[in-house]
Amino acid sequence: MPLLEVKNLTVEFHIPEGVLKALDGISFMLNEGEVLGIVGESGSGKSTTALSIMNLLPAPSGRIKEGEIFFKGEPLLEKIDELRGKDISMVFQNPLNSLNPSLKIGQQLMEVLQEHMDMSEEKAWNESIEALRMMGIPDPETMMNRYPFEFSGGMRQRAMIAMAMLCRPKLLIADEPTTALDVTIQAQILRIFKRLKKATQTSIIFISHDLSVIAQIADRVLIMYAGKILEISSVRDLFKRPLHPYTQGLLKSIPSFSKEKGKKLYSIPGNVPNLLNPPSGCVFHPRCPYTKEICNLETPPNFKVGNSTVSCWLFKGADVVETT
Ligand code: SF4
Repeated sequence: MPLLEVKNLTVEFHIPEGVLKALDGISFMLNEGEVLGIVGESGSGKSTTALSIMNLLPAPSGRIKEGEIFFKGEPLLEKIDELRGKDISMVFQNPLNSLNPSLKIGQQLMEVLQEHMDMSEEKAWNESIEALRMMGIPDPETMMNRYPFEFSGGMRQRAMIAMAMLCRPKLLIADEPTTALDVTIQAQILRIFKRLKKATQTSIIFISHDLSVIAQIADRVLIMYAGKILEISSVRDLFKRPLHPYTQGLLKSIPSFSKEKGKKLYSIPGNVPNLLNPPSGCVFHPRCPYTKEICNLETPPNFKVGNSTVSCWLFKGADVVETT
């Protein structure tokens, strides 16, 4: 049984300009101990997926219109308040938004342990120090008595990951955890996630707009575009044989994968569609170099190709599946 199963999830935002379909019937699974990368441009639905799982969609505009989310085979949203922070935790792009600026880091860590694990003050203090040490924070005893503003950006993100991992969650969702950091710190944070992957059984959903970051950490990758999933593949298959024209475009846009030296870096022509008025048929058709007649008339289903699934009419004739 998968740890997490998202089935036909549709999320809408009701805004003054109209109804924006941020997720349009997405389905996927996450296995125990697996790292699933979610990749897409801004507005593709990556963060909305994470917020839907956490039941943290901004109210009152955001709402789940359709679909189900199962955690260990049971409907998740009914008991998310019990699970959030303990069995399921999240790391955001900007830790300052999630850390309380007026409380010392130590106090914030200890509160999590005391609330969710019913720990004594002394044990919570020791465990918190250990958690900071595991994240490579130097002199953790001293840092426990510091406020978030006294931490550098990289150190804050480490403290945030320490906090998210305190209760040894079954699922950790990391939403662009390295994006706001400079390149050297990004590499350090990525190393922390790699260590967590090796040392724990925690399943991770790692969200990024950057395929080269995902390549370093994920087992499988889910490619999102305009609220839909276009491809799900293992990292190996995705880089060896990207199926969807959008995935192929994303790979061509990575500097180290562009083999033609001296040539201007490729970028996918056109812009992401307006989700208040999405394109008919395949959402990628206005930008696709292979578009054909059926593409703007009918939405492609998920075709099974090897161990991957791809939503593209180029694979018509392959078996149709719900998800992988
Ligand atoms: Fe391109 Fe058609 Fe495939 Fe969409 S369905 S990606 S438009 S070929």
